[in-house]
Amino acid sequence: MAVAVALHVLRSLRSAGLDFALPPRCPGCGAIVDGDHRFCVTCWQSLEFLGSPNCIRCAVPLPHDIGPDATCAACDRDPPVFDRAAAAVAYGEVARTVALRLKYGRRPGVARTMAGQMARLLGDLPPGACVGAVPLHRWRLWKRGYNQALLIARGVAEEAGLDCVPDLIERTRATPTLRGLGTRERRQAVRDAFRVPARHRQALDGRIVLLVDDVFTSGATAEACARALKEAGAREVRLLCWARVLREEGAAR
Ligand SMILES: [Zn+2]
Ligand SMILES: [Zn+2]
Repeated sequence: MAVAVALHVLRSLRSAGLDFALPPRCPGCGAIVDGDHRFCVTCWQSLEFLGSPNCIRCAVPLPHDIGPDATCAACDRDPPVFDRAAAAVAYGEVARTVALRLKYGRRPGVARTMAGQMARLLGDLPPGACVGAVPLHRWRLWKRGYNQALLIARGVAEEAGLDCVPDLIERTRATPTLRGLGTRERRQAVRDAFRVPARHRQALDGRIVLLVDDVFTSGATAEACARALKEAGAREVRLLCWARVLREEGAAR
């Protein structure tokens, strides 16, 4: 009986957001850490943080600092639809574990940890910018119960004091896994798979949109979303991700 009461109290406290009964844990390895949204020293040191100098269009690191607004050779040849891209870390073992914990591990608090690291890359955003997330298809949303990119987007919006529009983009159809496909096939696979619902179009007119996703692989999905946003009137789309795949490691989505 006493145990049942204690459990009930604990659950009530946790649902009220008071998580003090449990020590904070590293989102990379589960070790107990000093405070919420912190990594242990080992995981922190193994994360490869991205930042300047990098290509402003696709976030790949550049070998030399060639000034602000520099772009890589690939973006010079074939610029992506989104105007800017940034990612907090390179995709590696710890970055992947964190993304999977959020996606499949039902650990929504991890989204806040990711958002905290992503918010440092926001730069100067004019007022009126809004935040949206790469959507899941409704069947996948129904199965998983939440869209991990939207949880991160909410965290970013809160950190930055911006509006988050939860259903800014919708998936009109399920898309196949992009793993193993070439650039052209990936683009083909997600073409016209996204749209901005009519109710958001007026509010989007002339605005800058911060498009949030967990992992940036080929950028094909984000490009298709950016295209839908621009067709709906967005002035600029900036992609902001937790992790950027720099070497092909089969993480396409
Ligand atoms: Zn750790
Ligand atoms: Zn680039």
